[in-house]
Amino acid sequence: MKSFNRLLAVTLALLVCTASFGARKAKYVFLFIGDGMGFSHVALTEAYMAQERGVIGSDPLTFTQFPVLGMATTYSASNPITCSSAAGTALATGTKTKNGMLGMDPDSLPLKSIAYKIHEAGRKVGIMSTVQVNHATPAAFYGHNIKRSNYYPIALELPKTGFEFFGGGFLHPNGKEKDQPSIYDAVRAGGYEVARGLDEFEAKKRDKIVLTALRNPDEVLPYALGRKDDDLTLAQIVAAAIEVLDNNKGFFIMAEGGKIDYSAHSNDAIGVITETIDMDEAVKVALKFYEKHPKETLIIVTADHETGGVSLGYKKGYKYDLTVFDEITENVTTTDVDKYMNDKVVLQEHSQKAGVGWTTTSHTGGAVPVWAIGAGSEDFAGRMDNTDIPRKICKAMKIKF
Ligand SMILES: [Zn+2]
Repeated sequence: MKSFNRLLAVTLALLVCTASFGARKAKYVFLFIGDGMGFSHVALTEAYMAQERGVIGSDPLTFTQFPVLGMATTYSASNPITCSSAAGTALATGTKTKNGMLGMDPDSLPLKSIAYKIHEAGRKVGIMSTVQVNHATPAAFYGHNIKRSNYYPIALELPKTGFEFFGGGFLHPNGKEKDQPSIYDAVRAGGYEVARGLDEFEAKKRDKIVLTALRNPDEVLPYALGRKDDDLTLAQIVAAAIEVLDNNKGFFIMAEGGKIDYSAHSNDAIGVITETIDMDEAVKVALKFYEKHPKETLIIVTADHETGGVSLGYKKGYKYDLTVFDEITENVTTTDVDKYMNDKVVLQEHSQKAGVGWTTTSHTGGAVPVWAIGAGSEDFAGRMDNTDIPRKICKAMKIKF
């Protein structure tokens, strides 16, 4: 009886803890989306990290050590396998749409993303990516178009949002035919400052700002593999965003590791690994912020879909050897990364030698992982659909969905 009572007391204490945990309001929310990052991309990266230390095993990334783990189904309204814009729309608005559509429902009616709802509730908002900010995933949080490839009109929606921070440049900044006024003119006319790289950011820092890559002509961040020391990184963009957005009412940050997907489309294993590690570096910045405000911060790390059908293991043998990629990482200063990523023969050779399998150069239809830590994180445990994620974020922030 005594031990039963003790058990009951412990159970009740746990329940009280859980209840108060659940009642916390997430004032600061970080949503990281690893584009195309399935469970296997993470496993590949962690196996690589262990092998680089000379051991068999799996060295954890920062975000895989978060206490809450769930999974999200990803199918779209039109296809069992989603594209990035339909998945982005689901994650941003809570509504499934057809592949190729952005921020609109299957009947072409515009949807309101949680970024707008959070902004209207008085919180600051930042949208950022390692790819261009008018690309599918980031654009799903502010844009509306029946075609995700209408990059110029999608970009024109950005300055109208009033969101305080954007990180990443623009695809087709002068329109598809290069015959339109620069998107940067519209951005400046909308009251935004534009900063190329961190030095300009420090000099020009203000309430509404677009931070772009330092030197790339198409304004996209370089790949983690082979980038120069002073190139802008996603971790630096997230740190800059925190500087602009931190205020006592709170903020919402969506940060995308967009090039995990690009690398996986090319079946480039070391590209997937280095881009996943790169996003983890950005998560570390968020985690540092969380450590300062643990009761009011929520960090979620997930993906929009899986790309490449990558596997640790290829054909027979119960082994893989990811040190094969050392010849790439060690010679990275002399390696033309774009050339490597487009060399199908060499990529296939390297993957086979490493024992890494691929089933497609496109997306697959599997569920994706969801990791979470902080205020309201317990709601992200277990099975969910991608459309549940924005609902859960609003619930954690106590904002009407
Ligand atoms: Zn995607």
